[in-house]
Amino acid sequence: MTMPWRQNSIPRGHPAKPLQRQQLELLGLYLLSLAGILLVFAAVVRKGFESIVLADLRSQLVLIGEDFSSLPMPAPGSERDLQASHKDFTTAHQQVEWFLGNDWRPAARLGEVRTLGRLPPRRPTQRMVWQSTSDTLALIRPADADGLDSRGRPRVWLRISQGLDSVDRRLQQLDLAMTVAIVLALMLSAASATLLARRVVEPLQRSLRRLREFELDASHELRGPLAAMSANAEMGLLDCRSSDDPQRQRFAAIASATDQMQKLVNDLLLLARQEEGSIDQAQRLDLAALVQEQLNLYGDALALRQQHLQSNLQHGLSIMGQASLLQQVVRNLLDNAHRYSPDGGTISVSLERRGNKACLDIGDEGPGIPADQLQRVFDRFWRASADRGDGGSGLGLAIVARIIRVHGGSISVASRPGCGSRFSVSLPLMANG
Ligand code: ADP
Repeated sequence: MTMPWRQNSIPRGHPAKPLQRQQLELLGLYLLSLAGILLVFAAVVRKGFESIVLADLRSQLVLIGEDFSSLPMPAPGSERDLQASHKDFTTAHQQVEWFLGNDWRPAARLGEVRTLGRLPPRRPTQRMVWQSTSDTLALIRPADADGLDSRGRPRVWLRISQGLDSVDRRLQQLDLAMTVAIVLALMLSAASATLLARRVVEPLQRSLRRLREFELDASHELRGPLAAMSANAEMGLLDCRSSDDPQRQRFAAIASATDQMQKLVNDLLLLARQEEGSIDQAQRLDLAALVQEQLNLYGDALALRQQHLQSNLQHGLSIMGQASLLQQVVRNLLDNAHRYSPDGGTISVSLERRGNKACLDIGDEGPGIPADQLQRVFDRFWRASADRGDGGSGLGLAIVARIIRVHGGSISVASRPGCGSRFSVSLPLMANG
């Protein structure tokens, strides 16, 4: 039974985000959520205000209705006198209409002319019926002064209506005031959040900077003594002629350990430099040429273990990047494929364009990586098992992932234990690349 391929990927759509950019993103998110909360709050306030204003309007209409209900319906021609005594009616966009029985045309009218159509259905016993249109609110009630007919129904109905312009105007004023308040609140929150975030982040940034400087300095300072140790070990080896000389074996052990430490220090230095999250010398690079160059360097090492190389590189794919870093990526991945593949195994390397990305796949026939450990392969100092005895430091893939990240790309690994692994790197192509 063959094991299925398991995959882990570290998608990194953008180059590493500096702390400042993350701070800005956080601020944006904070302001967005605050704006959302304020808008919900404003909507609730507006609704409440609208119902208060409408309730106010209704009680005004009730009062006017009571006023007019105690007056008899004006005789035809006398509306003008009534109008003269209620001048403020028109300016207040109000209207009173008198309807005889079930007539649908008003028998008399006072105030601003507003067309509201027929009276809504009503029962003779009803004291108040409300009618509303998009721009008018009206109260219909019996005119008490005109009494009831022989069947006990109101002889005359009153309709008192009021335009909603004043309500709209007040709502518009409220909207304006709330917009200004929300904008001001957001500006003040943005200012205070920026100040607070700066106060919180500054010490963090300082200690991160110090840590990075320490890492850089320590790695840098260790290189000198290590080079001296290495040179002395080499000299010691030269001085001991006999291979059985125990002194020679000691010098050989020192030389090997020094070599490992030099590699480790170089890797740490490289990783610490990449923490800065930017590329120093970005230039247009032909990816196929860069990969081919590294493949050529590995020719002898592969031949020594009868490993076969299958390469298929698509030419003409250009990316912006730092050559030395991307060479390191190809080198680390090839080195792993070479180290973990058995003698006589095949290493396949392919480079092709997929959409606006250049995709580099490096596959091998090595032991693979157990599924439960796949997500850890890009961690610093992580190694699948110490007993593989390959002398690695566990930093190679962390460096690869970091370099790919600063180039705005992504890396993933698929593996089938016992059958092999495939590392896939994807890098953004240049617009005309
Ligand atoms: P190292 O220097 O130890 O190889 P890396 O970061 O390159 O460090 O790899 C981390 C671990 O991932 C390795 O120790 C190894 O266990 C596993 N690994 C990496 N590449 C492969 C591969 N091609 N096949 C199998 N295991 C791998």
